[in-house]
Parts: sequence; C-alpha cells; structure tokens
Amino acid sequence: MASATNSLQRELDAACAAVQVAAVACSDIATIEARAISKDDRSPVTVADFTAQALVCAALAETSAFRAVVGEERAADVPAELGGELTTRIGAARGETVDVDRVSAWLALGEADPADHAWFWTLDPVDGTKGFLRGGQWAIALALIGDGVVQLGVLACPRHDGGLLLAARRGGGATSGPLFRPGLRVALQPGDGAGRMCESVEAGHSDHDRAARIAARLGLREAPLRIDSQVKYAAVARGEAVAYLRLPTSAAYREKIWDHAAGQIVVEECGGRVSDVDGRPLDFTRGRRLEANRGVIATRADLHARVLDAIALEGEERR
Ligand code: AMP
Ligand code: MG
Repeated sequence: MASATNSLQRELDAACAAVQVAAVACSDIATIEARAISKDDRSPVTVADFTAQALVCAALAETSAFRAVVGEERAADVPAELGGELTTRIGAARGETVDVDRVSAWLALGEADPADHAWFWTLDPVDGTKGFLRGGQWAIALALIGDGVVQLGVLACPRHDGGLLLAARRGGGATSGPLFRPGLRVALQPGDGAGRMCESVEAGHSDHDRAARIAARLGLREAPLRIDSQVKYAAVARGEAVAYLRLPTSAAYREKIWDHAAGQIVVEECGGRVSDVDGRPLDFTRGRRLEANRGVIATRADLHARVLDAIALEGEERR
C-alpha cells in the first residue's frame, strides 16, 4: 500500500514537471503569436496545442509506468506549414534537435483509446483555446484515470495569479505553487468562495441565464466570475468562487473527459464536491466523453445539495 502511494506520488511529481515544461513553452507562444487553425469540428487549435501535447507525451513516455495517453489532439491534424515552428519550439523546450517525424510520433502517443486501458492519462494540452487566443485564461490539464477513478490531477494555470500549478493525488490532498518557479508547492487551503459562482466565458458552453437564476436563488450577490478553461476548478478549489456551474446548452452535448478529470480531483482533494447537474458522479468509464452525465457542477462541500436543489427548481423548461 505504502509503495503504491509512493509510486503514485512519483508519477504526480513527474506529471507536474512535464506540465511545467509545456506551460513555459506555450506561454512564450502566447506572447508572440497564436494563429488559430480550424479542426474538422471547427474548434480552434493553435501551435500551442500541438506543442503541449507532444512535450507532455514525450515526458510521460520517459517517466511513467502508464503508457496510454488519451489526448485531445491528433498528429494527423497538424497542418504541414506548422512543422517547422513545432520542431523548433519542441526542440528548444527539450534541449535537443527534433524532426517532424519525432514530433508526430510523440503526438500519436496521445491517441490511445480509453476502451483499451484500465489505467490511462488524459490530457487537454491547451484547455480553453478560445481564452488562450483572447488573452483570457487557459490551462494545461493532465490526469491519471485508473479503474474509472481520477487518481492524480495536474492543472497549470499560466495566466491566473501570476501562474499557478495545482496538483492532487486521491486521498493525498491538493497542493498549489507558482507555475514558473517549480519546486515550491504547499497544501491548498479552501477559502469561502467570495459570494459568487463561476462559469464559462462562452455562452455556448454553459447556460448563463439559467445560472443567473440559480445564483439568485442561492442568494449569491456578486456577479459571476466568467473565465475560460479548468481555471474555474482552480477558482473553486482556492475559494475564489463557491461553485462552478456548467449547465448544458443542448441536450445532445456530452462533456469530454479531459475537460474535467484534473479539475475534479483538485476540487475534491480540497474538500469540495463534483457531480453532474443531476447529482450523478462523473463516470469516467464511458470512453472519451462523459456519456452518462449531463453538464457538471463543482461546489464547496456544504453547498452541493443546495446547488442541486436550485438547479432542479430552475429547470430547463423555463427557457
Ligand atoms: P470553457 O473554457 O469552460 O468554456 O470550456 C472549453 C471547452 O468547452 C472546450 O475544451 C470544449 O471541449 C468544450 N465545449 C465545446 N463545445 C461545448 C458545448 N456545446 N458545451 C459544453 N462544452 C463545450
Ligand atoms: Mg478543453
């Protein structure tokens, strides 16, 4: 038991180091130039998404006992014209010369099928790409899922509070430290939540009107904190918001596992609660998406039941 805990802690430390390297490499891109390219599903992707996925996958391949990575990006989606920029940036971050084939191979390490593995990493290399492009919040989110449970989570938040790295191990608590000064991590203490909830900037990702009615019902007087990416989970964990509401804007949409796994464990290991809008636990056994869940809420522990009641009372049919 003790040795399993120790080896998971070593995995977590290595995951933090991998995410830190990627965050530094991508923060640099953010300040120089970030062009958006449209993927087939028309969601934006930038050189940063591919840089971060390649760097994290390369690092995990060298350090981790768990080989499978379920990442958001695919090697086949890299536009040919980005090849030179990617090899230069990834080579600089790793301190070696790399070619396009090596970058493709690292990216492809992130294409595991969750159905094939009981334990696997899941990676959102640039969560909140729209925020990244807008100068708003973004995150690198890496989590280890084992037997359907999020076991480890790392969240790099490069533009939040000077750059933050949050990390959590199941049963081992959560830590927080400066992202750009590695090594300094202290136990994360939850705050009271500042009398407000947080939600997506993008109205297409979460129902803002319904959230406002729920906030009023809960007696939250402050305006919602609208920020991109899983930095919302960091805000709940740090007590900058009492709850993160992600209320479905369509009946068909199912959340992606890499948009929630790392955030969930960080909030839970700070004593908070995470579920879907019906109060069901997030089910990470259904593949790349949370097929058995609708929306997500993350709350201060004492508010979870009240938030669920308010959601039930402010039903979707009123829209
Ligand atoms: P956020 O920054 O919280 O707005 O979330 C960004 C994430 O929203 C992206 O990583 C997408 O995976 C996800 N997303 C895309 N479309 C939707 C949708 N219709 N509802 C909820 N989330 C979505
Ligand atoms: Mg994302």
